[in-house]
Amino acid sequence: MARTLFEKIIAREVPANIVFEDDSVCAFRDINPQAPTHILIVPKKPIPRLGEAKAEDQSVLGHLLLQAAEVAARAGLDKTGYRLVINHGPDAGESVPHLHVHILGGRHMKWPPG
Ligand code: 5GP
Repeated sequence: MARTLFEKIIAREVPANIVFEDDSVCAFRDINPQAPTHILIVPKKPIPRLGEAKAEDQSVLGHLLLQAAEVAARAGLDKTGYRLVINHGPDAGESVPHLHVHILGGRHMKWPPG
């Protein structure tokens, strides 16, 4: 299967501003930021999207969320707040088929989202 864009970022084959990495996740700045701080955090395992995660991915998914909170705090967003977004499928605007959590902060977020 073709490797995803985010696998190539993890492998340093595509340049990105990587802000955090450990054995199972990688976080880097979004190339087209939608907020003053916009970071993507992805599992190194190329799960295409949340709905295709399996029971065996439970610990990866839990770690992904815990590290999303850590990355947000390290970016200085824990006091002012931040939003996590996971887009699944065309109606949500998913454009890269490699599960990723958007970490958005640095401005007031509207509700409901557009
Ligand atoms: P999605 O729309 O699938 O939820 O989010 C994909 C995100 O990946 C978008 O916010 C888009 O700006 C970001 N993105 C697309 N290509 C690149 C790239 O080459 N580098 C980085 N850092 N982000 C990218």
